[in-house]
Amino acid sequence: MKRDTPYAGSRRDLFRTVGAGIVATGLSTLPTNLSAQGAPQDGLMPPKERPLPPSERVGYAIVGLGEYGTQQIIPSFAECGKSRLAAVVSGTPEKAQRIAREYGVPQAAIYDYKTMERLKDNPDVQVIYVILPNALHLEYTVRAARIGKHVLCEKPMATSVKDAETMIHECAKAGRKLMIGYRAQYEPYNLKSIELARGGTLGKLKSIVADHGRTLNPAEPRDIWRAKKALAGGGSLMDIGIYSLNACRYLTGEEPVSLQATQYSTPGDPRFAEVEETIHFMLRFPSGVLANCTASYGWQETKRYQVFGDKMALELDPATDYYEHRLTLTDKQGRKDIQVDKGNQFARMLDHFSDCVKNNKTPKTPGEEGLRDLKLMLAIYEAAKTGRTLRV
Ligand code: NDP
Repeated sequence: MKRDTPYAGSRRDLFRTVGAGIVATGLSTLPTNLSAQGAPQDGLMPPKERPLPPSERVGYAIVGLGEYGTQQIIPSFAECGKSRLAAVVSGTPEKAQRIAREYGVPQAAIYDYKTMERLKDNPDVQVIYVILPNALHLEYTVRAARIGKHVLCEKPMATSVKDAETMIHECAKAGRKLMIGYRAQYEPYNLKSIELARGGTLGKLKSIVADHGRTLNPAEPRDIWRAKKALAGGGSLMDIGIYSLNACRYLTGEEPVSLQATQYSTPGDPRFAEVEETIHFMLRFPSGVLANCTASYGWQETKRYQVFGDKMALELDPATDYYEHRLTLTDKQGRKDIQVDKGNQFARMLDHFSDCVKNNKTPKTPGEEGLRDLKLMLAIYEAAKTGRTLRV
């Protein structure tokens, strides 16, 4: 069985759909009031649509054939109904040839970083999906927009506010759409958690705890650039703390008003010469919700959050895995598992953007969403450096 990234902690071949709608399983003896709240609810999952024929699907060029692009995104086109892989852009010709062969991309649709502008003349490609090291997102987004293509760009959107603003500006100037690949916002367990948190099931929201950790392994190509500030922009916060931060924002539907932070890197560990190992940050939201978040490159496989209300607590653990999720609700009487029709979050995200492109809609996670997180992450670094509470 193929292993995904260490951070994924799950396998594609374990992926399966577990029935339609939401099913409250009988794992606990929770009272009927909770059962009722956790019961199947219509309307969360979009109705199954007929897949479009290939000629009507939105064509994507993937820029950067790294771990995430080749292990998660490219295979997920098979589960899309509105999107298809139409081209690849890579600096590694053998890899580009292999991927093109495996996924039926024509020879003429293989590009490198110098020839990328030729995509302008490829009518099969409407979207360029930038899956490169963070600091390169600016250049490739701007180049894509300037040749008239819509852009899907990975998180973190950029490494500076100026870069992110330029990306938004250039796409707007070219009349092209820009979306950031916040896959969790298309993932059914996270969508159910948002519904429960914002819909009142938990009572008045009081606190959120969100943690993300993995160990940085410099033996892996994907972690070499992540240890370099110039390419990554930062450490565990930029890479995985962004999941904790984004979750607090989508679970509350609010923007934080102030924040505090502290960070620590093991002295002498060469992995953390340029980027931080561990960072803790606290956010205060206008409604009074307090969020405690952590991110670390020094501990294993953590990707979870808990939301505490005055009636009930919600836990999603794992929350931001590629394929595994476990949602539980707890109240005075006990704990209950909630199961949700899984769906493939990558395919859902791709099809959402394709729908926006085809029907001229604004994406749910546009460039502005990436810019908000980026400004907050830079403020978190500032708070950690100065030890001050920052109003944001
Ligand atoms: P990888 O290192 O595995 O892949 C990056 C690819 O970019 C390389 O394989 C290479 O592809 C290309 N590249 C071009 N220039 C450089 C360079 N100077 N140094 C290194 N690579 C270069 O990284 P990931 O796939 O893990 O991450 C890529 C992006 O995707 C990041 O922004 C990351 O944050 C994001 N990501 C998002 C995830 C999510 O869940 N949303 C999960 C994982 C990553 P080639 O050989 O084809 O030129």
